[in-house]
Amino acid sequence: MLRVGLSGGIGSGKSTVSARLAELGAVVVDADRVAREVVEPGTPALAEIAERFGPGVLTADGSLDRAALGAIVFDDPQARRDLEAITHPRILARSRELFTTASADAVVVHDIPLLVEMGRAADYALTVIVDVPEQERLRRLVESRGMSSDQARARISAQADDAQRRAAADVLLDNSGTVDKVHERVEALWRERLAPFERNLRSGTPVRRPEELAVVAPDPDWPAQAARLLARLRKALGDTALRADHIGSTSVPGLPAKDVVDLQVVVEDLAVLDDPEVRSALTQVGFLVPDRLWHDHDHQGPGPAVASRPKKILATGDPGRVVHCHVRPLDSPAWRLALLFRDWWRADSDERAAYADLKRTLEARGLSTSDYTEAKEPWFAEAAERAEAWARRTGWQPS
Ligand code: ADP
Repeated sequence: MLRVGLSGGIGSGKSTVSARLAELGAVVVDADRVAREVVEPGTPALAEIAERFGPGVLTADGSLDRAALGAIVFDDPQARRDLEAITHPRILARSRELFTTASADAVVVHDIPLLVEMGRAADYALTVIVDVPEQERLRRLVESRGMSSDQARARISAQADDAQRRAAADVLLDNSGTVDKVHERVEALWRERLAPFERNLRSGTPVRRPEELAVVAPDPDWPAQAARLLARLRKALGDTALRADHIGSTSVPGLPAKDVVDLQVVVEDLAVLDDPEVRSALTQVGFLVPDRLWHDHDHQGPGPAVASRPKKILATGDPGRVVHCHVRPLDSPAWRLALLFRDWWRADSDERAAYADLKRTLEARGLSTSDYTEAKEPWFAEAAERAEAWARRTGWQPS
């Protein structure tokens, strides 16, 4: 199963997108519909609402009078909290139920208008945002939903703004063109990303870096991508993750790199990754735990560095973004070194340039990715000494 969060500002075309996804085979859980369902006549939630807010919030036929309730909670924060305490747990429970009853091979799309406002992006393996500039959304709302311009503007400004929503997006679906155009984009997304992501998760097939080496120019979006992935890992791992960081070349602005986002999670003991609950929480947010063990070089002490420090490298099933998450035990010196290199490169432009040169030189030799990684090791051993000297000079510690 693949869990996808779908959102967008009011009038962006979420419903248009989710309807097309449903036709393509997705199981759509509509947050608005669930919110209405839990307060239908005869439900315990509606009885509690009537008890708390009085019979004035019910219509003559016993259903919820949304306008009356809205007027009460509109500028009374305590009333709103009371209402949410009644409805939110039930919405959550019902949504969970809809997710868990979907079949094992489902792509479940949670259509949730306030995903960004509620800080829920990290609950899903992938977050898709339907994006339309505010002016155009305003125009569509007035034209097709019969809202006045003021009403539409008020609804829009009560929500997160476009920049906040874009920051949460793994996939930004542009719907500023025609409906046909956005349908095409949705179909491509389904074919190229959602369907294979789901298959990869189900079959336990991680998406790893290609063996053909390609060092690309720095992408200013890498840190934001890493931040979204780290939020998922933190959510899934909770206290099990002693820390979680963006590391490697993509974490250093201005450094060319393989287009692979490297992350690092430090744990007490790698054995935590064998816990079925931990694995299941990771899979929910798109990550797979391999059986295989890797080893870091140990640059401490005299003599050549030997690859002796165990780690796991998690990956996701997402064909649209290669990510390697190095999970290192607390007693491995390698996690501190990864943070040291990152901070040193961020601070020292000459060293950054030297490392970029090394990458280009090795790339020009036509090495495979594995041979390239191996060829960097002797340079790393020397660089580690310079980085340690920098740490001593500046008093650097892992933050
Ligand atoms: P949301 O669910 O995000 O509030 P809707 O899917 O209901 O948005 O879309 C808002 C309005 O804009 C609807 O009337 C819809 O038919 C229309 N719409 C959606 N996409 C487009 C588009 N690409 N061009 C023109 N109108 C669109």
